[in-house]
Amino acid sequence: MIGVAILGATGSVGRNTLDVLERHPDAYRVVSLAARSDARRLAELCLRHRPDIAVMEQAEAAAELERRLRDAGAATRVAAGAAAIEALARDPSAGVVMAAISGAAGLRSTLAAAGAGKRLLLANKESVVMAGDLLLAAVRSGGATLIPIDSEHNAIFQCLPAGARAGERPAGVRRLLLTASGGPFLGWTAAAMARASPEQACAHPRWSMGRKISVDSATLMNKGLELIEATVLFGMEPRDVSVVVHPQSIVHSLVEYVDGSTLAQLGSPDMRTPIAQSLAWPGRIAAGVEFLDLARAGPLEFAAPDRARFPCLGLAEAAARSGGAACAWLNAADEVAVQAFLDKQLNFGDIPGVIERVMNDAPGGALKDLDAVLAADAGARERARAVLAASGGLARSSLA
Ligand code: MG
Repeated sequence: MIGVAILGATGSVGRNTLDVLERHPDAYRVVSLAARSDARRLAELCLRHRPDIAVMEQAEAAAELERRLRDAGAATRVAAGAAAIEALARDPSAGVVMAAISGAAGLRSTLAAAGAGKRLLLANKESVVMAGDLLLAAVRSGGATLIPIDSEHNAIFQCLPAGARAGERPAGVRRLLLTASGGPFLGWTAAAMARASPEQACAHPRWSMGRKISVDSATLMNKGLELIEATVLFGMEPRDVSVVVHPQSIVHSLVEYVDGSTLAQLGSPDMRTPIAQSLAWPGRIAAGVEFLDLARAGPLEFAAPDRARFPCLGLAEAAARSGGAACAWLNAADEVAVQAFLDKQLNFGDIPGVIERVMNDAPGGALKDLDAVLAADAGARERARAVLAASGGLARSSLA
């Protein structure tokens, strides 16, 4: 039995992971579940999956979880706080850690799992973007096995030569091609996009995801962050990672080799495939997904991204060339700008401009330790809030 810790259990990756694990009760055991604040949903998951321990980042939510579990007579222990989540990441009873707490909040527990030598299933792309060098160092020193869950990077992982190591450019690889669905605004005009509502931005045509990543998909910043993620995870130069728009989301990404071979991973757009792959690698287990019927899938289209309508892609490429500090700034500036948009304090069309103005002040070079990462993150957030305030913020007369 392999023990599994799921950090970010109530989000879509967490729930999909539990769905896969539930299909293999003889091979995996859910040891621990962690979530930020949704006590009601975490209580439901605890009653169904019976982990030894459940942690809520927020103390009030932990108290509510404890009440709910006690009332239901469940044996799961409850703890609270970020340090308790880090402890789950290091717990010897879990050989596998699913790092699916989104945003900067997931950084410490991801680094803890890497340092503890776990099989680290990495769904927290921000930790790669913010702290790529630190993460790779922790993976090496802890002897962890890092498998990306992001569908594109998982596809690339599956197409790499045997023996490829995290952070090292694999021999014979010429280029990585990240596919992008294009998001909900693929066919929209710039003028229509400029006034798009949060509801429209979050209505992704292929994937069901959280609101922040849905907005990132609509701006193509998600692809930009994934480009940075690919340079870190696979040791590639930014110029050797290309983005190709593929609206059907069936080809999840590709690896081009020096001999002209291009290998791709295909599948239904369902996160349970990369989750099952990463749990069982190098073996395979059933994921519960719908199998591809290529004859019925229809034409598969590919196109270059429209950089004028989606300037976030270029901002991310510039940050990738500039280094770790700029990538941390980009990640933080994007989080602030997207939150302002979701709070209806910023128009969709103004998200890239806010990020660009923040990035004009971004430092270059690498970040040497966690304190430097957190300081860069805080500095960028402060700058982003100042840019938002200067641009009128809430009071904008142009707001829809
Ligand atoms: Mg992705």
